[in-house]
Amino acid sequence: MATVPIIERSQWGARDPRGRKYVSWGTRTEFIVHHSAGPTSQTVRSIQDFHMDSRGWSDIGYNLLVDDAGHAYDGRGWLVVGAHAVGHNTSGIGVCYIGQNAPTDPAKRTIRALYDMACEQAGRQLETLGHGDVNDTTCPGGNLDAWVHDGMPVDGLDTNGGHELIGLKKGDQGERVKGLQVCIMYAGVDLPQYGADGDYGDETAEGLRQARELVGSDAGPGYGDRVSGWAYGQLMKLLAENTGGDGTASLPDTISVSGDLDVED
Ligand SMILES: [Zn+2]
Repeated sequence: MATVPIIERSQWGARDPRGRKYVSWGTRTEFIVHHSAGPTSQTVRSIQDFHMDSRGWSDIGYNLLVDDAGHAYDGRGWLVVGAHAVGHNTSGIGVCYIGQNAPTDPAKRTIRALYDMACEQAGRQLETLGHGDVNDTTCPGGNLDAWVHDGMPVDGLDTNGGHELIGLKKGDQGERVKGLQVCIMYAGVDLPQYGADGDYGDETAEGLRQARELVGSDAGPGYGDRVSGWAYGQLMKLLAENTGGDGTASLPDTISVSGDLDVED
């Protein structure tokens, strides 16, 4: 069974709930998938603010949330009555994909892992549902809805282990971006202003472009705007050359560094 770490409320800067009502695993029978219907860059805190300030709810509506990088976030938590599906907030665990309706493979893997974790804790299989199965809504829509009704298969999805930097692009944020930035710096390219700040901006793009140039790519303007398979391979080559040259450079799973990281050998 796959499990995933869950980013705690304190880590995403959650506000305290105005109230909480708990349920037991015995009352949980459903796993209900939603989408936030916003941009994939939406923060969990902004969703909480919307639910508490505009909707007037006691807390963020969902029990858990998942972003395109495959991160899982604690919402109300497994065993707190939610505010996500009318008539199903006690029976159903509400999991929200942050975005519209086309999650990345890492996001799907994480949603599936949360389902497996829920079933494990409940001691039985929970029913998998899209929000639209229980309320009159198009949520979670499109390819996400279809995948849920397919039984949330993970076979054939891209793995994210070791190659999770591929697909990152300018504008992305988070731990994977920090991982990319640390790799760029370990590869010998300076990110003088922002360092590993988790924000894929102009400096990171230029750093990746320079790294590609250093291993012989033409690497014209724009070549650092996205981590293509080629870009990833070239960065790994440069990293290997700069860390002993045995070609076995590998990425740590999680890198926690601040923006003013000093790169040392
Ligand atoms: Zn929904």
